[in-house]
Amino acid sequence: MSVDLRSDTVTRPTPDMREAMAQAAVGDDVYGEDPTVGALQEQVADLLGHEAGLFMPTGSLANQIGMRLHVGEGQEFIADSLAHVLRAELGAGAALGGMTSRTWQAERGLVDPEVVLRLMIPEAGPYQVSTALVVLENTHNFGGGTVQPLSSLRTIREATADVGVRTHLDGARLWNAHVATGVPLRDYGACFDTVSVCFSKGLGAPVGSMLVGSAEAMTRARVLRKRYGAGMRQVGILAAAARHALEFGLTDLAEDHRRAASVARAVADTHPEVVGSDDVRTNIVLLDVGAAGWSAPDAVHALAAAGVQAYATDPRHLRLVWHRDVDDAATELTREALLALLAGDPLAASDVPRNSAVLTSPR
Ligand SMILES: *Cc1c(COP(=O)(O)O)cnc(C)c1O
Repeated sequence: MSVDLRSDTVTRPTPDMREAMAQAAVGDDVYGEDPTVGALQEQVADLLGHEAGLFMPTGSLANQIGMRLHVGEGQEFIADSLAHVLRAELGAGAALGGMTSRTWQAERGLVDPEVVLRLMIPEAGPYQVSTALVVLENTHNFGGGTVQPLSSLRTIREATADVGVRTHLDGARLWNAHVATGVPLRDYGACFDTVSVCFSKGLGAPVGSMLVGSAEAMTRARVLRKRYGAGMRQVGILAAAARHALEFGLTDLAEDHRRAASVARAVADTHPEVVGSDDVRTNIVLLDVGAAGWSAPDAVHALAAAGVQAYATDPRHLRLVWHRDVDDAATELTREALLALLAGDPLAASDVPRNSAVLTSPR
């Protein structure tokens, strides 16, 4: 048996989902004529309490276009130093969008409104860069699936709105935050001018993301999407997968959370320096294996030899992500492999056969 915990993007569509895709009504979505895309856009905009939505091939594009709606050339957005928009979108904000950025530091990605508001410079005048946008992430990926408290989001929303600064949420895993806390998706949505969400993570669709915002903003986003080369035609086939994922995948996320937390607690029992017993609330387990003397790449290789694929987010941290294709038996295998790893000798790790492929990981 082996288990792939590198990311929740690795799921494969179920036969039911494939059937829904095969049956989808389609049209040319560049002309706005695909009924399945239209239905998905309305559904998700409504869930998040926004006027309109725009289907996107990837979460990165949804973020980049969302950010460009608010940030002019040479203006800045601010985000935390571990944000996906900065660490994992290959510099698109600068390379394609002409945006500059500054960062704040956040332990496990948890946002502190005071720190954000201190960094923000709304009207910097003609000699300095003005902050146009605050970008937040919920749940926070490289922070370890961290859920942002609604009260913090509301504080930032009020303070930024007062001075004309916009807010964008990278909500690739907002579904997980919603399921973990019970906070309605609309309450999260109300704190932001635009929100991106992914169907291709824990929900289990093969492809697809959505940007939501005002109708006027989505009209401008449609132009940008075409300019980026992502105007798509009979894409209802993919929107059908997303609709299926929302209908059947959302509540299952609680199972991923339960399994992830059980492994984190087992590790915390014997190695509290590696993970805190209350750190894991969603589907991501971030382990500071460096604190137990392991380099993260060595730990990745040792776990791979035991049938568990994980991802090294940096030289000392391992990330394991639960998803629909990981059941209780695979979770148990993972728990045992981790406990054996941490009980073992990091210096003997060089004996483990190396396979460079295990280090390249999806997000
Ligand atoms: C996965 C992810 C995205 C989008 O990734 P794509 O691979 O471009 O779909 C954006 N933000 C976060 C936090 C993510 O985890």
